[in-house]
Amino acid sequence: MAEGLGFSREVDVHGILHVVFDRPGERVNLLDERLLRELGSVLDDARRREDVRAVLFRSTKPGMFMAGMDVEQIASVRDAYRGAEGARFGQSVFQKVADVGRPSACAINGVCLGGGAELALACSLRVAADDPAVRIGFPEVKIGIIPGFGGTQRLPRLIGLPAALELILAGSGVDARKARRLGLVDALVPTEYLERETVALLRRAAEEGLEPVVARLDRPKRLFDRLIDHVPPLRSLVLDRARRRTARKVSTRDYPAPFRAIEALEVGAARPLTEGLDIEARIIGELVPTETSRNLIWLFRNQAALKRADGGTGAVARRIDRLAIVGAGIMGGGIAQLAAGCDLPVRLKDVRYEPLLQALRTAREGFARQVGRGRIVERELRQKMALISPTLDDTGLVHADFVIEAVVESLDVKRAVVAEVERHLDSRAVLASNTSSLPISDIAARALHPERIVGLHFFNPVDRMPLVEIIAGRRSSPEAVATAVGLAVRLGKVPVLVRDTPGFLVNRILTRYLDEALHLLFEGVGIEPIDEAMRNFGMPMGPFELLDQIGLETAQHVAAVLASASVAEAGGASGSALAVLVQNGRLGRKSGRGFYRYRDGKRAALESELPRLLGLPASRELPPETLQERMLLALIHSAVACLEQGVVREPRDVDLALVLGTGFPPFRGGPLRHADTVGIPIVADRLGRLADAHGERFRPAQRLTQMVREQRRFYEDA
Ligand code: NAD
Repeated sequence: MAEGLGFSREVDVHGILHVVFDRPGERVNLLDERLLRELGSVLDDARRREDVRAVLFRSTKPGMFMAGMDVEQIASVRDAYRGAEGARFGQSVFQKVADVGRPSACAINGVCLGGGAELALACSLRVAADDPAVRIGFPEVKIGIIPGFGGTQRLPRLIGLPAALELILAGSGVDARKARRLGLVDALVPTEYLERETVALLRRAAEEGLEPVVARLDRPKRLFDRLIDHVPPLRSLVLDRARRRTARKVSTRDYPAPFRAIEALEVGAARPLTEGLDIEARIIGELVPTETSRNLIWLFRNQAALKRADGGTGAVARRIDRLAIVGAGIMGGGIAQLAAGCDLPVRLKDVRYEPLLQALRTAREGFARQVGRGRIVERELRQKMALISPTLDDTGLVHADFVIEAVVESLDVKRAVVAEVERHLDSRAVLASNTSSLPISDIAARALHPERIVGLHFFNPVDRMPLVEIIAGRRSSPEAVATAVGLAVRLGKVPVLVRDTPGFLVNRILTRYLDEALHLLFEGVGIEPIDEAMRNFGMPMGPFELLDQIGLETAQHVAAVLASASVAEAGGASGSALAVLVQNGRLGRKSGRGFYRYRDGKRAALESELPRLLGLPASRELPPETLQERMLLALIHSAVACLEQGVVREPRDVDLALVLGTGFPPFRGGPLRHADTVGIPIVADRLGRLADAHGERFRPAQRLTQMVREQRRFYEDA
């Protein structure tokens, strides 16, 4: 036994060495340096022993084989030398698997990612459970690195170059059936027979020799792949296509990892394994200390941390068996679909038929797409649809443990809904509002039980946006807040706890950023250069594209809320300009006209009427860096103000919320991490200059000037 290390070992009566992963006290199995070291000596020992005829790797955790290398250990690597050495060490251990001198196999019962999948590649055989829990893949590019324990070399050798490129560049992994089709696993068996069947396969391989067993396995024949192996120009074609496709999605400057993965695969395709492994290790070494990889790893770790937390309430979340949603519009319908997708029964109420029907239609289409992608089967679609029960009255509300109201954004309507729902609700049930701008304390002001009312702010589109703001009103109980956090996590979202202040967190900061774009417009700068400058910074779209997407009415409403609450750093350009456009029927993408014109839902041209409608001055050009600086510093400034005023507790909350809620470039880690990278004294100095030139909306927050005096950063350990 290798107690405490995360695995045990035992030789069975057939001479098969079982290496059994079971990290003590954890839901997931992870690789770390100690485990790998011990595994290495177990394999050395197995190689020497005559009674060991085969080696089997398996796990006793349900749905979990091996989730990969412990990301904390990757994060602790600060230089290229140690990064490369770490990869070489892992490679050497997995080489021992390949060289153990007898048949080896992984019995994959669930998640098998990163280093877990690389271990499987080093074995002579791979058997997987025919189970939806199985997911095999290489998510490394998502944290800015590449597979480093032989993955870039062994994967193309097993499944061919094109499929390997696709799997490594996508980072998302495949289910058991797809893995079988690709030849990534050799056999699929029912979960309950997984160990037995893998043992049987290993016994046959030990008795007859590996080759005849493999020959009977029906591994996919890969004529095209063999051709690629032998015809270099064909290989170049495949690699070039992968490079072009990657370049259409990301830039090599911001996200080097996928391009470096292609490089590692290219070397592997033409050179012996040892040379390929060497390049792989060197590339890992170069990538791990980069800003991009450090930021992506940081986001990954902190996202996981927020999902584990109780929102800092110290309270115990209530169990939720039934959800109810009042208001079946875009948001209510979206949340209902999400809940059903997570197998949570949901009662969906509206005052009209049409939204209910539309919500059911949209949910069915969403699940049908999942069927199309092989994520769920037709039967599950029907089961999930059956979990959504629509209603025009209040029946069924009494059974709900948690109610979300998503009716129109009007304080009176929301208060009326609260009063009505409270009449039917169990006294301990939590009542959440999805409001995007109304204070939770106002919505709860006349409630019988204001302590159970919280804010649960989902973003649109609900299925795609990973963030949920949890808003504690003045009187919300810690238990209600913790329960809302628990629900958000159960629905697969990342919760950020936010104080009940105007615009909450994300909309407040975003409004300030969009407002600065409008200031620039009124100074005569063109819409397209402004949008392009921010896209070049790494934003998924420019500020005017975003305004059109959000809808100008909604944006105008949030700007008005912030203006009327006199949020000090709010810029104030937005409100009146947006009002003019809304009055003139420019509502954004949904109306076909906003800052841009849209044809068939696609952006077609600039809205030519803008200069006249808004009375814009003659055009003026500013360098892209100036544009970026203005908008970005406005955003950072608002983020610091939120922190200073306790809207959230720590810098981490701001950064994750902005990356997950607005698409702030993940490789930059968030606005405050970016401010650290630029340098706090530089940020404060530039803000001061902008305040002198353009007005008090830029005047640096006290917190920032104090940080400069004390030579502090937002993240001291970075
Ligand atoms: P919507 O207009 O699409 O849907 C509102 C629904 O509520 C309508 O179907 C309406 O019939 C129904 N309704 C009105 N009064 C009702 C009542 N008394 N009882 C039951 N149903 C009632 O609106 P939406 O965009 O889904 O927004 C809903 C809430 O979510 C708002 O508070 C909004 O601010 C917030 N929100 C919206 C977005 C967004 O982008 N759309 C994003 C985040 C939050």
